[in-house]
Amino acid sequence: MSSIAENLLQVRQQLQGNVRLVAVSKYHTEAEILEAYHAGQRIFGESRVQELQVKRNNLPKDIQWHFIGHLQLNKVKYIAEYIHLIHAVDSLKLLEEINKQAGKYQRVIPCLLQLHVAQEETKYGFTVEECNDFLERGDWKDLENVRIAGIMCMATNTDDKERIRRDFHTARSFYEMAKERHFAHLDYFKECSWGMSNDYGIAIEEGSTMIRVGSRIFGER
Ligand SMILES: *Cc1c(COP(=O)(O)O)cnc(C)c1O
Repeated sequence: MSSIAENLLQVRQQLQGNVRLVAVSKYHTEAEILEAYHAGQRIFGESRVQELQVKRNNLPKDIQWHFIGHLQLNKVKYIAEYIHLIHAVDSLKLLEEINKQAGKYQRVIPCLLQLHVAQEETKYGFTVEECNDFLERGDWKDLENVRIAGIMCMATNTDDKERIRRDFHTARSFYEMAKERHFAHLDYFKECSWGMSNDYGIAIEEGSTMIRVGSRIFGER
């Protein structure tokens, strides 16, 4: 059996250019996270606020915590002081709440817009059309304590590699369009968060700047 440190090294060796690795540690123990930390990993992703709170309390303070899951409005206040990046924003309401809570700490919290490109039905994520409308309406421009730093998506959960590639391609095209139309002279709109354990190779080929990998590093949950 290979260790967390070995797995981490193997994934890192596949990173190209500026692609960064978010080690998704949800449901894994603090000891396991520390093993990755001691192997040099500093960015960790969690998807449940309560679990994140406990881990953040007990683990080294130089860890950069990313929130990768669906974030409920009433939970934003618990993570606003320290969260480094929120990956899955899919409503103005959520962005407004993050803005409000970030303001209490005089912070600007970077957020990604979650784009729904997969075939599965899910209630989370903007469709391409909704995301376009959201950007066009422009209410987000008045929110001084958040910054839209890019796009996040999940591909269809399938073995069909071409389908996965198409999903990422759709997201990348959307990112390029949005950058040109809405963020042309703003250097902070730069992240494309896609790629998980089963598809990060394709994701990197399709323009990901940030992969979110859990089980490939920590083992099955
Ligand atoms: C769990 C999760 C991941 C990591 O999934 P693995 O298949 O374990 O790599 C990535 N992104 C999100 C949003 C997740 O919830």
